Amino acid sequence: MSTSLFSELKSMAPLLSVGIVSADLMHLAEAEKRLCSAGARMLHFDVMDGRFCPQLTVGPFFTKGLRTGCFKDVHLMVEDPLPLIPDFAKAGADIITVHIESGRHVHQALHLIGEQNNANDRERGILRGVALNPGTPLSSIEPLIDTVDCVVALAINPGFSGQSFIPSTIERCRTIRKIAEAAGRDVLISIDGGITADTIGYAAEAGADIVVSGSAVFKNNAIEENFSLLTDKLTKGTH
Ligand code: ZN
Repeated sequence: MSTSLFSELKSMAPLLSVGIVSADLMHLAEAEKRLCSAGARMLHFDVMDGRFCPQLTVGPFFTKGLRTGCFKDVHLMVEDPLPLIPDFAKAGADIITVHIESGRHVHQALHLIGEQNNANDRERGILRGVALNPGTPLSSIEPLIDTVDCVVALAINPGFSGQSFIPSTIERCRTIRKIAEAAGRDVLISIDGGITADTIGYAAEAGADIVVSGSAVFKNNAIEENFSLLTDKLTKGTH
C-alpha cells in the first residue's frame, strides 16, 4: 500500500465518498463538476454483477470514462473479483474493495490489489479494502487484518433498494477498530449503505473515516445543498 495515500485520506477524515451511480447518468459530467465545486474529494463506484447481489451496475469502462480530480473508491460487489482487479487499477482506482463473502480467494485478491500501480500517479499506490455484509461475523477479518488498509461495514444488504440504515453497524465499526488495534494495525473504516441526512451523524459517532452516500447527495438535484448538509453533519457528528 501507499503510506502517503493512506495518511492523506486519514488526515481528511471523516470524508464523504459520493456514490456516483446514483447520479443522473444523462448528466454525469455536470454532476461531477457540481460535486467538485461543492468540495467533494472522493467518488464511490458501486460495481454489481447481478450474481453476488441482484443489481447490475457499472464496470471498468465507466470508472475510467468518468474523468475527475476526485479519488476513485471502487466497491466490487461481484462473485469473483480477481480477474477484474487489474482493469479497475487501469481505470484509475485509488481504493479497491472486495467482499469477504465473494469468491474463494479474498486473501489473494487483496494481495493482487496491493501489487497494482495507481494509474493516476504511480507513487500513490492503491489501497486494499475489504467489505463485510451486515450478517457476516467480524471475526472473519482477523486473518486478513495485516493485508488491508480499509475495512468497509455495509449498513444495508447490497443490491436491494429501499433499505434503511441498520443501527448495529455503529457497534460493528467500533469492534472493527478494536480488532485492528489489537493487531497493531491502523486502518480506514468506512460505512456504506443507507446514509442520509438523518443517519450520517451516527456514522460520525461510530468513528468512520469514510462515509458513503449516494441518493441522499443527488436528492431533488440539490447537489450543492445536500453535499454541504451531509458534510456538515458528518464533521459535527450531529443527527
Ligand atoms: Zn458501495
